[in-house]
Amino acid sequence: MTDISKVTVLGTGVLGSQIAYQASYAGFDVSAWDINDDAIAAAKQRYQKLAETYEQQVDGAKDDDRATKAAESIHLYTDIAEAVADADLVIEAVPENPKIKEQTWTEVGKAAPAKTIFATNSSTLLPSSLMEYTGRPEKFLALHFANMLWVNKTAEVMGTAKTDQQVYQTVVDYASKMGMVPIEVKKEKAGYVLNSLLVPLLNAASELLIDGVADVETVDKTWRLATGAPLGPFQIFDVVGLTTAYNISAASEDPKQREFADYLKTNYIDKGKLGVATGEGFYSY
Ligand code: NAD
Repeated sequence: MTDISKVTVLGTGVLGSQIAYQASYAGFDVSAWDINDDAIAAAKQRYQKLAETYEQQVDGAKDDDRATKAAESIHLYTDIAEAVADADLVIEAVPENPKIKEQTWTEVGKAAPAKTIFATNSSTLLPSSLMEYTGRPEKFLALHFANMLWVNKTAEVMGTAKTDQQVYQTVVDYASKMGMVPIEVKKEKAGYVLNSLLVPLLNAASELLIDGVADVETVDKTWRLATGAPLGPFQIFDVVGLTTAYNISAASEDPKQREFADYLKTNYIDKGKLGVATGEGFYSY
C-alpha cells in the first residue's frame, strides 16, 4: 500500500490553503494547484497569513521558523498534470459545484500515476456521485476537514461502497500524521457525522426564535446548562458566520428556513453584523 509522503491539494481557497499549509507544517512534501497566476498569488498570501496565525495560536510554531518554512516550502502549480505527476495523495478542495468537481477529477484521473489515492473535501456532495469521474473508484473517498483546522481538528473519512479498505485505512493514518483527529464514517451519509448532528440543532434553534418561542439568550442558556456544552446554537452561528448561515437558509426548501434567512438579512447582515469575524453577530465580541 502507498506510503503517503507527497500530497497535492487542488484549490487554494479557504479550505484548500489550510489543508496544504497544515500538511506542510506536519512535514509532508506538499504541492498545490489553482487555475491561474492570480489565484496562485492569492495562495501565497494565504499561506503567509496562516504562518502568522500559527505563530500566534499554535504551540511551537515559532521554533526554528517552523511556521514560515511550512508556507515557503509548498510547491505551486497552474498546470494540473504537473501538480499531480508524483503525488501519493491528491486532496481536492475546488468550489462546491458538481460540474467543476467532475471536470477536475476527470483531468486528475487521467494525469495521476496508478499509485495515487484521491480524496475530496466536499461538504455536501457524496463521494459516490464523483467516484466514476476519477477512473479509479477503489482509490477514491472523502476526507472532510473543518474550517480553521488547526483548532477544529476533525478529519472525517468517508468511503463509498467501492472504496478499497486498505486505501481507507491509509487515509485514516494519513489524517493522524497530518495532525488531525480522524473521524471514521462507516457508510456514506450526507453531512458526515458532524453536520448530521449540528444542522438539525441549528435549524431547531432558528425555528424557536422565528416562532417567538424563546429568544437567542434563552435558547443558548438552555442548551449550555442542560447539556454542559460550551456554546449554544446562536453562539455557534456566530462562529460559523451569518453569511454562511444565510446562504444555506435562503437556499432551503423549508419556508421556516427562508423566513430565518430574511430575519438574518434584515437584522444582521444588512447592518454588517456577520458574527465573530466582524466583532458582532447575535452577540458582541
Ligand atoms: P473557495 O471558493 O474558497 O476555494 C475554491 C478554490 O478553487 C479557489 O482557490 C479557486 O480558484 C479554485 N478553483 C479550482 N478550479 C476552479 C474552477 N474551475 N473555477 C473556479 N475556481 C476554481 O472554496 P472553499 O470554501 O475552500 O471550499 C472548497 C471545498 O471545500 C468545497 O468542496 C467545500 O464544500 C469544502 N469545504 C469548505 C469549508 C469551508 O468552511 N469553507 C469547510 C469544509 C469543506
